[in-house]
Amino acid sequence: MSTPPSTSNPPAPPGPPTQQESLLRTIANQVPALIAYYEPEHMRCLFSNRQYAQANGWNVEDVIGRTVREIIGETAWALIEGHVERVRKGEKVEYIRPQVLPSGERRYIEVNLIPHFDPLGRQVGVFVLINDITGHYLAEQAIRDSEERMRKFAAATAEGIFFHKNGVLTDVNEALCAIVGYAREEMIGRNTLEFVPAERHQEVADYIRAGLETPYESEIVHSDGRRIPVEMVGKTLRVGDEASRLGVLRDISDRKRAEERIAYLAHHDVLTGLPNRTQLVERLDITLALAKRHGSGVAILFLDLDHFKTVNDSLGHAAGDALLKEIAARIRGLLREADVVARLGGDEFLIVLPDLESAGDAANVAGKLITAISGPAMLEGRPVYVSPSIGISIYPRDGANADELVRAADAAMYSAKENGRGNYQFFAPGLAQAAHEALVKEAKLREALSRGEFVLHYQPQMNVKDNTLIGIEALIRWRHPELGLLEPGEFISFAESRGLIIPIGQWVLTEACRQNRAWQAAGAPTVPVAVNVSAVQFRRGNLVAEVGRILDESGLDGRYLELELTESVLMDQAAAIDTLDALRNLGVSLAIDDFGTGYSSMSYLKRYPIDKLKIDRSFVTDLLTDPDDVAITRAIINMGQALNLTLIAEGVEKKQQLSLLRDFGCEEYQGYLASLPLPATEFGTRFLGLKD
Ligand code: C2E
Ligand code: MG
Ligand code: MG
Repeated sequence: MSTPPSTSNPPAPPGPPTQQESLLRTIANQVPALIAYYEPEHMRCLFSNRQYAQANGWNVEDVIGRTVREIIGETAWALIEGHVERVRKGEKVEYIRPQVLPSGERRYIEVNLIPHFDPLGRQVGVFVLINDITGHYLAEQAIRDSEERMRKFAAATAEGIFFHKNGVLTDVNEALCAIVGYAREEMIGRNTLEFVPAERHQEVADYIRAGLETPYESEIVHSDGRRIPVEMVGKTLRVGDEASRLGVLRDISDRKRAEERIAYLAHHDVLTGLPNRTQLVERLDITLALAKRHGSGVAILFLDLDHFKTVNDSLGHAAGDALLKEIAARIRGLLREADVVARLGGDEFLIVLPDLESAGDAANVAGKLITAISGPAMLEGRPVYVSPSIGISIYPRDGANADELVRAADAAMYSAKENGRGNYQFFAPGLAQAAHEALVKEAKLREALSRGEFVLHYQPQMNVKDNTLIGIEALIRWRHPELGLLEPGEFISFAESRGLIIPIGQWVLTEACRQNRAWQAAGAPTVPVAVNVSAVQFRRGNLVAEVGRILDESGLDGRYLELELTESVLMDQAAAIDTLDALRNLGVSLAIDDFGTGYSSMSYLKRYPIDKLKIDRSFVTDLLTDPDDVAITRAIINMGQALNLTLIAEGVEKKQQLSLLRDFGCEEYQGYLASLPLPATEFGTRFLGLKD
């Protein structure tokens, strides 16, 4: 500017440009910026490059001498008036504003308003320098946006996020603060390792140093000292030459707890909290490996509760569970720390005794277990008794590995059952064979029903005085495909122990009722058929409904059915009286079988609705030789008469026995003297006057 404008006078019209002026103009027209110069008094334009004039819609010649307000128009003026005021007061002003081009395109411009002073400090002009910074502005905006997004992400997630440079924290999100229990200010500036347990420092430092970016599990220390399992992942971020690390961390306490729970469940029996089979086998393998190295012995005890099913069936599953827990605690209480006891399921427990000195030690433990378990357990306020059967196998004598030893102990346990339960047995060669045979027998017995291999034989019950038929006892037989006709002594108690007596008993009742009804329909004399009912059936609870249904279906009147129960049924069943009453209401009569062999008690005979006593065969058999049996038989008969019960003697084989019984006042008898049990057809012709 060779001629700075006076501050008071209107500008002189421009003369022809000097050479210097036109050079300056040429340069000004080349730069990618809008340049103008105004006098400060009225803000009239003294200089404009072509770009400035054109951007405002003018030619250069037309803007010279006009005020800025005229040049940029009223709308723009309203926006920048304040800025202009400030620069006229000598202030340097810089601002960015959006600008919409006539084409509609949106640009961002940076405006610099620079006051111009003469050497005496008086303001003589205003430079206007305008740059289009759209590209730059948008790039910065993008960064601002992405940072904003990042902050929002970091705030919105439950994962802890942190930034650090060489381990020193530079930023953390809220979630991290919550997980670690420190405020943001307490964390920034500290080393990440301060939040990691000492023994994990190395792994974390190695991970960071290697710049790894794969997730790994670690732990952090909460401000309250708790350790929190976390999953971490790090990422390296490069900004220019600088590298910083971003870490993302997730609290995996819940997952860890779930994993631990799953691992626990996989290795424990939930009911008793004892190890389960899986854990036992794992531990037994280790025990055996140690025993092998040290040349020591190990005992394996296979323990099964006797008649546990009865408890479950009669008292319910909750009571059964309570009993199992109680017994688990008794077993555990008897063992040493190093011994292992596991529940295999159901009522089976396995016990491992390591460092065994002699087989006698195992027998000792087994004996103590039997005593401890056989003591009464209180269930629902009343004492319940169960005993265990225990099989013992010894390493290395009875097997080389866990599998063989467990199988040997299992086989020995079965032999304890066969030996009358409530005892222990050592494994002996051949037992495995016996156990195998038991399994085969069970399978055969199951098939027997569906194949119709059971039959009933019938034995007459006679009047002592006139030898007429007064009843018929139905007795089951099994036509075994290989072994021929088997008597109940060979399979009934086995069927009871395997729960098979339920369907078998059902079949017997159905068949006996059907047969008696068929005989009646054929015109035979009408007498009751007596059916033996196992204690297991009785305790199952639905016997009444079942008998009712079977009577209905067969069309047999309840009067013609008698049920033979054993004394034990009455002894341990508080609900027995209701069941017996209900059966009586169906018209069915009730007899006590094998009377005199159980816990004979006058009191229950008085209390229960019983019709008949069957004097056990053992007394009758020795009636002619043993005065004691004579006395007992007479006592039973007298007692029965006093209680108004019918008396029937079982197992009468000889005439002399019968005449003695007659003398004693016994009214009925049953035995080979009258007949062996016979197949239905034969019985029909011989005792019912039917033709075959
Ligand atoms: P129990 O109810 O006391 O039946 C009488 C048993 O004595 C029958 O044996 C019968 O054959 C036998 N017997 C009858 N008269 C004489 C005799 O004069 N001398 C001798 N030595 N024995 C005689 P069996 O048929 O072998 O039945 C044995 C036991 O099996 C029965 O004793 C009964 O407790 C049980 N039983 C039989 N059938 C069934 C059934 O269907 N269900 C259930 N749960 N048990 C049954
Ligand atoms: Mg009987
Ligand atoms: Mg009997």
